[in-house]
Amino acid sequence: MIDAHCHFQAEDSLSEVSCILSDFDAKHRETMLKMAKNNENQWCVVGTHPWRIDSERVSEWRSTFNAAFIEEHAVVGIGEIGLDYIFAKERASQERQMVVLEDQIQVAQEFELPLLLHCVRAHQDLLRCVKDFPFGGILHGFRSSYEIGMEYVKRGFLLSLGAAINHEKANKLKVVVQRIGLEHIVVESDAKSEATSTLDKSYQTLAQIFKLDIEALEGITEKNLEKTFRLR
Ligand SMILES: [Zn+2]
Repeated sequence: MIDAHCHFQAEDSLSEVSCILSDFDAKHRETMLKMAKNNENQWCVVGTHPWRIDSERVSEWRSTFNAAFIEEHAVVGIGEIGLDYIFAKERASQERQMVVLEDQIQVAQEFELPLLLHCVRAHQDLLRCVKDFPFGGILHGFRSSYEIGMEYVKRGFLLSLGAAINHEKANKLKVVVQRIGLEHIVVESDAKSEATSTLDKSYQTLAQIFKLDIEALEGITEKNLEKTFRLR
């Protein structure tokens, strides 16, 4: 079982969990890089989240970012980056998020790395930003329509499902996921500490949707991630 997106922060206890880690501040980034470096089943993405663009500059991590750094710390992508228009309500701050996002897409282009995207009420702008991006990645916390999902799929992105898929009112999302197809789907906890039960539940829900056993499902989602993030 692999967690496509999480923010685990306890360095010692989590070496058994396969996951792609994402930082949430500069201090956590240090811990995360160590975890990814020391555990062969853990990888990480580095980036400036749209909530943090005023407190942290891309240049802070960009200055240490090079091929050797990427290799040594098992960095497999740029993220969590994106647009959040609930967090930024005014057009001026939305535009600031876009500038920071585009700067990071540039870094990803330069190092040929996929993206891990965060998007809240901003799909049109985000889809425009990644229109010609050639290395794909993940849209995390997917819960939108079939049409929006397919726009990301067309651009080479996987759709990552969080706990929302387990909600009793998630029937519409389940139909969307089934239509999109398992070859474009991965599963995430988005948690700060180990969340095996959430992941288990999501895999069980997917097993019902696709009428597959858990092992087969895990194999497919793992392959999706391995391919997009060149994990092994
Ligand atoms: Zn997250």
